[in-house]
Amino acid sequence: MKQAKLDDTAEDRNKLMEDKLRTNDGKLPDPKTLTAWTNNFSNIPEFTFGDLYNYLVGKEDYSEENLRSFKSLLGFKLFRDGHVIDLKYCPLEKNNFCFFKFKVKPTERAKTEDGQATYNGFTILKSSGEVHAAFCPCKGGSDGCCRHVAAVLFDLQATVSNNLMSTCTSGKCEGRKEVGIVTEKDPVKPHNFQPGLSSFDSSSMREKLRRGLQQLYPQSVAIHFLPKPEDPDTPEPLVKEHITNDANVERFETVENVTVYTMKEYANIFKCQNNIDNNMDISEDIVESFMKFLSVSESQCDVICSKTVHQGSSQLWFDQGSGRITASNFYRCAT
Ligand SMILES: [Zn+2]
Repeated sequence: MKQAKLDDTAEDRNKLMEDKLRTNDGKLPDPKTLTAWTNNFSNIPEFTFGDLYNYLVGKEDYSEENLRSFKSLLGFKLFRDGHVIDLKYCPLEKNNFCFFKFKVKPTERAKTEDGQATYNGFTILKSSGEVHAAFCPCKGGSDGCCRHVAAVLFDLQATVSNNLMSTCTSGKCEGRKEVGIVTEKDPVKPHNFQPGLSSFDSSSMREKLRRGLQQLYPQSVAIHFLPKPEDPDTPEPLVKEHITNDANVERFETVENVTVYTMKEYANIFKCQNNIDNNMDISEDIVESFMKFLSVSESQCDVICSKTVHQGSSQLWFDQGSGRITASNFYRCAT
């Protein structure tokens, strides 16, 4: 049930709250008066993606008002990014309704429009899973369809899906009715929606929503917010065949790990390996084994050569030069 937006006076707020709490079975209690809030969601109604969709988008054809509900996409992002931080459930005894209260962190800003850390609101579900009403204190929240409410509903739907999965995998779900199956009677919901039957995967949910929109309302701005899958039309076996065929290989590359030391590092390693300290007399044998130790492999040469080609503009050029005699100095000394 969606209500018209009202101005933010105390009187209007009371009226708004009254509307939200009114049902055909009488008036529901004000959530502020409830005390039995719990984190145990094992007995919550089976809130399906269909229920979420019907509430945020509507059962009828698309209209401008319905499309505004695509702030629900922002809601999905809030949910995905973990902005729903405190969701609590409160069943009502002998009643077909139950309450959820929530706290949702604002998007970019650290504070809400009225300086709070979170938007604290509530939503009311029927035992069938249908959303009866929702309330959020944010500016756009009076109609119960703001992004914060949307985030909460996505969170709730994921919780229901995951609960169902864990129940099914532990073998306790015999005779459980199937949920989330879309029937031909409802033309708005895309076909093949079975979110309650699979574990929750946000990317596949996005893709389903994208395809559904593509089919039913290709002009929708929302489509641009839903990333296209990389290459959905190439079947996996074909990709596998392509990449394993040598004829499709453009060039081969081998990767080799080459370590290059500076002269100082060579000296330190040699000193450690041979227990040499700075006060020792250095014998000719030690000098000779150090000279052997200094051997540089061809691949090390190649690395040093390619990485010092710009000489003074590369640090490696200085590192490698330090402790070595240049060819021209060697020539001067030796002739
Ligand atoms: Zn809100």
